[in-house]
Amino acid sequence: MSRIGVESAFEVLVRARALEAQGRNIVHLELGEPDFPTPPHIVEAAKKALDEGWTHYGPTAGLPELREAIAERVSRTRGISVGPQNVSVVPGGKPIMFFALMALLEPDDEVIYPNPGFPIYESMIRYLGARPVPLPLEERRNFSFDLDRFRDSLTDRTKLVIMNSPQNPTGGVIPAEDIGQIAGMLRERDVMVLSDEIYSDIFYGDSAPASVSRCPGMLEKTIILDGFSKSYAMTGWRLGYGVMPVWLVEAITKLMVNSNSCTASFTQRAGLAALRGPQDAVTAMVKEFRRRRDALCDGLNQVPGMRCSIPDGAFYAFANVQGTGMTSKQVADVLLQEAGVAGVDGAYFGQYGQGYVRFSYANSLASIAEALDRIKRVSVHWDNPVASR
Ligand code: PLP
Repeated sequence: MSRIGVESAFEVLVRARALEAQGRNIVHLELGEPDFPTPPHIVEAAKKALDEGWTHYGPTAGLPELREAIAERVSRTRGISVGPQNVSVVPGGKPIMFFALMALLEPDDEVIYPNPGFPIYESMIRYLGARPVPLPLEERRNFSFDLDRFRDSLTDRTKLVIMNSPQNPTGGVIPAEDIGQIAGMLRERDVMVLSDEIYSDIFYGDSAPASVSRCPGMLEKTIILDGFSKSYAMTGWRLGYGVMPVWLVEAITKLMVNSNSCTASFTQRAGLAALRGPQDAVTAMVKEFRRRRDALCDGLNQVPGMRCSIPDGAFYAFANVQGTGMTSKQVADVLLQEAGVAGVDGAYFGQYGQGYVRFSYANSLASIAEALDRIKRVSVHWDNPVASR
């Protein structure tokens, strides 16, 4: 247990809530979840499912009709051909991470993972006694992989490569050409890839982010992690899935039998309605995220000492705060305590996140405008903020 980590955005939320309990007003830009309600037709499907009696255990790997719908969706959106036998339905995207790493890793295996990155990757790698090999994501490369560094990181012990695009915390999207090159380096190796595509629907370019699973020879090596949390604003429902080779579905099914038995049946019925029903709520949400992204990045770029590149996906802006003369932890503290704006110190996402603050724009345009006003006001005295003294 001493090796397992936690997720820090939740800690920032606790601090922000404590300030609110003292009567302070806080603008929440720390949370990684859409602020929109779950689309009503999905909620209705869940209510109907409860009335119809979808309140019992179901098959461990997921309801057959949902696995079918997921296989169809993933085949279409990624340009691959998978079937329901390749799908494992689990309570959220995170369990795919947990189970896949547990099934694949032996002590001392090396795992290459993005840094800054979702903190659970490193937590799980360490927990299982494997060796974390961080791959720095750099602003000058739009937070994509540095291919030379990636090549240098590969060894005979590399067992797993974790990719995440669109990415948390940077909002970066790995260009299709780079994904092709990464696949070229992995094709002949005995490695697996965990491709965390939980933000697959939230992108601002003309075409959907590329998935490594589509590259020649990679389907048999790839676990696609995706789910309903971000695409359909269903974080609290706990519904996600993995798409992977059948032998790994079998392993994850065993881990599911030993832990959850199955994912809640009525939420799976709601998931089916999400996949089969109208997608206009997703389109509208992404459109609104884009407006907020532009407003937030534009505003941050006007703050002395801050610089923020425009992210291509997810709903995070990763602002470089090195010009403030403070550490990113100090900046995040000043913003919370003096400005009442909650963001997350980039160092929480790994050592290479040092010098950045993550702002989630899963909040209204009005709240973002208010946050920017407040940040600009405290930036006047960056040199001598109360909280950093
Ligand atoms: N992967 C990434 C990169 C995430 O940012 C998150 C949630 O923040 C998850 C996975 C987990 O998603 P879920 O809430 O469906 O477990």
